[in-house]
Amino acid sequence: MRVCILLQITDDAGMTGAAEEVAAFEKPTERPEDVGLLLADGKALLAAVQRRVVKVQADTWAGRHRCCESCGTRRRCKGSYPVLFRTLYGDVQLASPRLHRCACQGGDGPATVSPLRDLLPGHVAPERLYLEARWASLVPYAAAADLLADVLPVPEGRIVVGLDGGYVRDWDDRKANFELIVGRSMPEDRAPRYIGLVHGYDQKPKRRLFEVMRQQGLQANQDVTFLTDGGEEVRSLTELVTPEAEHVLDWFHIAMRLTVLEQYARGVAHHDEKEGERLLSELGRTKWLLWHGNGHRARQHADDLRDDVKALEMDYPHLGKFARSAQEFAVYIRSNSGSLINYGERFRAGERISSAMAESTVNAVVSKRFAKRQQMQWTRRGAHMLLQTRTRALDGTLRPLFERWYPGLANDNPATADQVNAA
Ligand SMILES: [Zn+2]
Repeated sequence: MRVCILLQITDDAGMTGAAEEVAAFEKPTERPEDVGLLLADGKALLAAVQRRVVKVQADTWAGRHRCCESCGTRRRCKGSYPVLFRTLYGDVQLASPRLHRCACQGGDGPATVSPLRDLLPGHVAPERLYLEARWASLVPYAAAADLLADVLPVPEGRIVVGLDGGYVRDWDDRKANFELIVGRSMPEDRAPRYIGLVHGYDQKPKRRLFEVMRQQGLQANQDVTFLTDGGEEVRSLTELVTPEAEHVLDWFHIAMRLTVLEQYARGVAHHDEKEGERLLSELGRTKWLLWHGNGHRARQHADDLRDDVKALEMDYPHLGKFARSAQEFAVYIRSNSGSLINYGERFRAGERISSAMAESTVNAVVSKRFAKRQQMQWTRRGAHMLLQTRTRALDGTLRPLFERWYPGLANDNPATADQVNAA
């Protein structure tokens, strides 16, 4: 039989809309598992109903708040921005209208207002927040996410891959370093996997990256975001791995460089308060422009800052380092201009703008065993082999690999194990 589920919504004014098909199931009745809705049916149904209900409610709210609260004048619309509302029954993509501020409000405050922001300030449904918090307090977060995905229609979302370069001392040429690339692939709905390789040693680095993502369920048309430190080798690794991929400069790395520059500017302020304040406000402006995706103007500000620092004359001891950092920052922003996004907008839409673990991945994968501080030297091959073991140990795939090599390890049936031993 065919089961069709219709949805009909009556608005606050009592107007009833047309009935709309939200889900349909073909139901044979032959075996016990045919009876009733299956888990997948239930998830599809909940997600479809949720999408429609949330959209209608968001539209109703926006309509109700279209006019100025003070004088009742209808405010002009200035487009909309995307909002991802995360609910227990799936994530819902919404367009949040942006309205011009009413003339009666005078000159103070923001130029536009977004009514939906008042209804959905955190972009997460309180119940989802509650369940995530409750389950994550009982089991590790990844396990909590798996639990949620088992029973609820949490969507197959974007895969975010954070990649970073790191350096270790070369065994063959003790004055030189060579580059390691490490990273973490983080699907929204699955446990993360680590990846590590030695640049130049691994002959098929793209293949290695692709394989990790494929094992996490990468689909041909899946949205993939690569968040990187902007390094040339790391960036080239992300090219052509999958068609629907975008390359984004990780906000963490921008913020980190700005923080270093701010520290120098504070040092300048100790010698010349006015000059220091001016540089700090210039840096603040640059950060604001970058956060809002205005790469073109941010580039100009970064160039201005470089010139301003170069022109400084004072006995601040770190002036040389400050000038070098400002120069590097200007080049960094320029060479990564194609990978700058509107970070603020993405952040408000609940999307990842930083792998957040950027540094911690490098540390987790590299530091301890590679003994950065002790300046241990490595061969490329040795480093590569250790990275393969280390990344697998981190994401829990080392044991299955050993079990494939040594089938006896996988045998937890005592009788069989005895037979293996006897043989
Ligand atoms: Zn008004």
